[in-house]
Amino acid sequence: MADSFNNACHYFESAADLLGLSANMRRLLQVPEREVKVQVALELDNGEIATYIGYRVQHDSSRGPMKGGLRYHPEVDAEEVLTLASLMTWKTAVVNLPYGGAKGGISVDPKQLSPGELERITRKFVDEIHDMVGPDKDIPAPDMGTNAQVMAWFANQYEKFYGFQPACVTGKPVELHGSEGREEATGRGVVLCAEAMMKKFGRDLQGVKVALQGFGNVGTFTASILHEKGAKVVAVSDVSGGILNPEGLDIPRLLEYARSNKGVKDFSGTDAIDNAALLAADVDILIPAALGGVLTAENADAVRAKYIVEAANNPTEAEADDVFRRKGIVVVPDILANAGGVTVSYFEWVQNRQHFRWDVNRVRDELGKVMLDGFDRVWTLAEEKKVSLRTAAYILGIGRVGRATVLGGI
Ligand code: NAD
Repeated sequence: MADSFNNACHYFESAADLLGLSANMRRLLQVPEREVKVQVALELDNGEIATYIGYRVQHDSSRGPMKGGLRYHPEVDAEEVLTLASLMTWKTAVVNLPYGGAKGGISVDPKQLSPGELERITRKFVDEIHDMVGPDKDIPAPDMGTNAQVMAWFANQYEKFYGFQPACVTGKPVELHGSEGREEATGRGVVLCAEAMMKKFGRDLQGVKVALQGFGNVGTFTASILHEKGAKVVAVSDVSGGILNPEGLDIPRLLEYARSNKGVKDFSGTDAIDNAALLAADVDILIPAALGGVLTAENADAVRAKYIVEAANNPTEAEADDVFRRKGIVVVPDILANAGGVTVSYFEWVQNRQHFRWDVNRVRDELGKVMLDGFDRVWTLAEEKKVSLRTAAYILGIGRVGRATVLGGI
């Protein structure tokens, strides 16, 4: 991920050129407000002490409290967190949520930790950063390697300092002030974007062939909802390996299989494929839903999909994006496609602050309105300015953040 921030800046600069932003304004919008790096020391189950590094980057607060996930992954570093924090600033603005952008994480492999160790590392991280986060300042949420249980521990530890504060973090379990529909939200938003895009080309999702990289929170819900809508998910990969069946995978059975076998590898009736073959699969839509930086100058030419919907954050390097544009492959960018998660996180925060619960139908209706409004604005802007959906999304996001910054003053 050494160049991840440069990559995100490249997309920012293309849109800033079209907006005619001055160099000073670009710098003001790109430089993060605060970057924090902390020691997270943990007593392991065997009595040894392990020391990890935790990060929180608060990128921009001009439109409201900052919002962004918490990632537990061995590749987490200062640059990756900064990149992801900046993407959150543009993402919350594209779908017009009253938030700024932030991100955090710990450089650790959560699969190597016991549940007790995972709880202790989370509580220790809260001890280190509690004074910089909170319901009106910066609200974390799940990302790779974290889930509702981690958010429950986060809230519980935060509340030891500040009393009852359920809105301090989102993506909590429904039994503990979480929102109905939060777990599925990112995947549902991805499918809403895929559906809206196919509609623009006069098609629905029935029979559309999809390849999906990643079968975690986002990947599993994306696959199930696509399956419900009649799409054919033909290839899936996760950290265990990849599988392909050109006739379409039985997603409900695959979900059960992946749960009990800790991965999709060796699912019956499929051929084994690697990530390179998955990204080059003969499909209509390719959905990266795992790591960043997977579509590169080296593999972009091999992509056969006509459409890419970016469920993962920052999956496409700038050189690959150029190849896709040249080849006429339509890319729905991450800052729009995966905004469903932060949108329902916002609904959770609203419910927590109002002490009122929405049912799942209300959550899904409101999510649909936000995602489709964002999609339509980006699509229209792309047509008007004759630019890619990514550049249009950045123009919309940067425009909103820029105006808020100027109106608020410094
Ligand atoms: P997760 O930890 O639940 O799942 C990650 C998945 O990626 C797992 O299936 C894992 O096996 C797979 N994976 C890891 N390395 C891989 C590799 N080398 N090849 C193939 N698959 C691999 O994480 P998640 O929450 O589903 O997040 C996935 C992506 O979506 C991330 O980029 C994240 O930033 C983004 N995202 C997540 C949310 C959310 O609400 N969780 C919201 C917006 C964006």
